[in-house]
Amino acid sequence: MVELIEQCSECVSLLGDYLEGSLSRERTTALETHLSRCMPCITFVRTYKKTTVLARETLAAQMPRELVTSLQQFLKGAIPGFTCDSKKGDCGSSAQQPDSSSDTKKS
Ligand SMILES: [Zn+2]
Repeated sequence: MVELIEQCSECVSLLGDYLEGSLSRERTTALETHLSRCMPCITFVRTYKKTTVLARETLAAQMPRELVTSLQQFLKGAIPGFTCDSKKGDCGSSAQQPDSSSDTKKS
């Protein structure tokens, strides 16, 4: 008895384990069943296997919006440090300059 995957987002979330071969037999069957009838996912997996992170942007342009979002969320969870927003990019050290003019000695 196999629990079928109806959502592409679930398919994507399992993809990492699937490609690593660490997915359970039942999940693998469910995933392959979904992949056998879902053209966007078929195309995605084929390209995903061949290419890597380099083609991510190209892939994103061809993928359904739902799939893109799911993949990004998946990558965020799977890869430490992976993030799409660069809000924390500006974390320069704010060097403080002590204004100790009261301790200056003139001779
Ligand atoms: Zn799908």
